[in-house]
Amino acid sequence: MKYSVPPIGLATCPLLNMIKIHHTLLSAFGPQNWWPADTPEEVLFGTILTQNTSWKNAKNAISALKTAGKLNFEAVSQMGLDELALLVKPARFLNQKAKALKVFADYFGNNYNFSLEKMRGVNYLVVRNELLNLHRIGPETADSMLLYALEKPVFVIDAYTKRIFSRHGFIKKEASYDAIQKFFMDNLPKDVKLYNEFHALIVRTGYLFCKPKPLCDHCPLLNSKIQLHRTQEENFD
Ligand code: SF4
Repeated sequence: MKYSVPPIGLATCPLLNMIKIHHTLLSAFGPQNWWPADTPEEVLFGTILTQNTSWKNAKNAISALKTAGKLNFEAVSQMGLDELALLVKPARFLNQKAKALKVFADYFGNNYNFSLEKMRGVNYLVVRNELLNLHRIGPETADSMLLYALEKPVFVIDAYTKRIFSRHGFIKKEASYDAIQKFFMDNLPKDVKLYNEFHALIVRTGYLFCKPKPLCDHCPLLNSKIQLHRTQEENFD
């Protein structure tokens, strides 16, 4: 979908500002091509394995599963927890992650016969509720699964999103996951490609620039002068 981008500094409503931010980041960084995986099923593994660790560690665990021929949930459902924990060790918290993968594999097999097509055919809000009831699947993981594996229009919120958009005055620092997600989804068109790219661009911005001590001077969002009500109350030092 194409959007017309207003001249910088003229947008006054959240929708136009959000689209300007997306456009600015896309111009600065280019397409991010998320999620980095060969298959949608690999995306599901990645969303669990990357919890509380770097993507590099998660990727090493995915490679170990791939090499062992176990990068599918049918295989995981038949494995012992100890065997699985050894394979996912590079992603850290091995026992918790092995259990989360096993619980997900059992759910995926019992409810959808290991078929992503069957899962895609069910209302995504129903699937979201199911996911949120599984071991160690919180809203960020569930929404990443829905957006990046099932291609459903759900905006993913992470710590970078919260930091960047609170620093720019769009949301409160203490806002809940659900409130921030509502803000994004109320102020953007419901578009899977847009949500996919925008979240990836936000992560890139947060990783490179919007650190606890931000590097605003080099950040594309400073130069764009997008509604920068940053922020008497926040101390960046
Ligand atoms: S680094 Fe500065 S300009 Fe960039 S997103 Fe963070 S607060 Fe905004």
